[in-house]
Amino acid sequence: MVGAISVTNGQIKGLMESRGIDNYQGEEKDIVIASLVRSNNKGDIGFMAQQQRLNVLLSRARNGLILIGNAKTFQNSPNGGELWTKFFDLMKGRIYDGLPVVCKQHPHYTKILKVPQDFDTECPDGGCAEPW
Ligand SMILES: [Zn+2]
Repeated sequence: MVGAISVTNGQIKGLMESRGIDNYQGEEKDIVIASLVRSNNKGDIGFMAQQQRLNVLLSRARNGLILIGNAKTFQNSPNGGELWTKFFDLMKGRIYDGLPVVCKQHPHYTKILKVPQDFDTECPDGGCAEPW
């Protein structure tokens, strides 16, 4: 059971915390969920074009790393596109066009959630549409 959640200075007490990538240097977490934020047709990824930023991003998670973002923006970057294309090539087979989910009761039931409404239709109440 999860009690009330309070957020103070970007930290959700006891459950998770939220920070920018530059504030993660030298730290690790069991699971890291990172938003790549940038999404545009120009390939403008700002400071994420720097190899050091990708290195920090990839080396903070002990058990799991989930990246959410627009891969095309990063691949089309004039400055960091080559780096990110190499990274995405390494991740081939682990990149999805949505959020992959698996039902704990029915491990064969997997779906890719693409819009918020998919949580209700594909995995209602945290399960799946199949009978127990
Ligand atoms: Zn199920």
